[in-house]
Amino acid sequence: MKVTDHISSAKDTLFSFEILPPLKGKSIQSIYDGIDPLMEFKPKFVNVTYHREEFVYKERENGLLEKISIRKRPGTVGICAAIMNKYDVDAVPHLICGGFSKEETENALIDLQFLGIDNVLALRGDSIKTESNFRPHKDGHEFAVDLIKQIGEMNNGVYLMDDITLEPTDFCIGAAGYPEKHFEAMNLTTDLQNLKAKVDAGAEYIVTQMFFDNSKYFAFVDACREIGITVPIIPGLKPIKSMTHISFLPKFFHIDYPEELSKELLKCKNNEHVDIVGRDWGIHQSKELKAAGVPCIHYYTMSNSSSVKAIAKEIF
Ligand code: FAD
Repeated sequence: MKVTDHISSAKDTLFSFEILPPLKGKSIQSIYDGIDPLMEFKPKFVNVTYHREEFVYKERENGLLEKISIRKRPGTVGICAAIMNKYDVDAVPHLICGGFSKEETENALIDLQFLGIDNVLALRGDSIKTESNFRPHKDGHEFAVDLIKQIGEMNNGVYLMDDITLEPTDFCIGAAGYPEKHFEAMNLTTDLQNLKAKVDAGAEYIVTQMFFDNSKYFAFVDACREIGITVPIIPGLKPIKSMTHISFLPKFFHIDYPEELSKELLKCKNNEHVDIVGRDWGIHQSKELKAAGVPCIHYYTMSNSSSVKAIAKEIF
């Protein structure tokens, strides 16, 4: 079932979460171990992130360097199929532009449709470690909006190489939104215009980057509505869990902590203390968002379900 259908038929705020494929070498059981503790809260959909390959340079015997591509985590298609087979839940694969040619994207979408997967979160992806800026595949897409257009074409039965119209796909397309602005955007206004272009191209709902200050989410929703973005905007929340997270999350995700939270974090001396502060803040944020009638609250587990479980217990 489509994410948008789940939302339109819901009587209350829905619960959903995102999981990260495990590092290679682990089995599907590690995915189930992350999902099992959260199933009692009846998620309607579970997102599975996509991680592109990385490149390393290995010295050959003749002294020349060889560029080698390595995948650290398995791809999402198989994981989504396994999740849908085991649980009564929709799996939402993340599909990115980075590293994909248009043909590879089309093939991935054909596989997803074949497996009965109705939703796709369409993203650009970040630059890889060896690049300072995002560089698209030479036959791929530069921006998420272009990927969304390609999925939209397939939804109209238009495939890349075929000169006849084929069986249309029927994907519900999600896109990413940034309450605190995407870090590369010149300003929030241009970022919002780019977001609107994604919706105009066919994105039917938005999931936000994590944020810790609800007022930023509410202002973002207002700004979206003002420029005519009418689709559901699902807030994404991440419980802070460890001392490392305290500096890592703002640095990596380009987000700020509100002062009230940063004061509490500064008092923390160990991971256990941070975990408590993170859960309490997540509960506080979730309560306020639910009271405001948001369509769904989407939690980033980042391979750890325990804090999300503790929050969900209080909210759902
Ligand atoms: P875009 O919408 O393409 O935007 C990227 C930047 O380009 C923005 O600054 C935007 O303002 C600008 N822009 C957009 N269109 C244009 C245009 N036509 N001309 C000029 N500028 C333009 N990354 C992964 O690798 N795997 C994942 O699974 C993953 N999951 C995510 C889930 C969520 C909910 C979110 C919020 C992010 C996720 N990301 C993931 C990270 C994401 O890939 C990065 O944030 C990436 O840098 C931007 O992706 P986007 O889809 O928002 O890109």
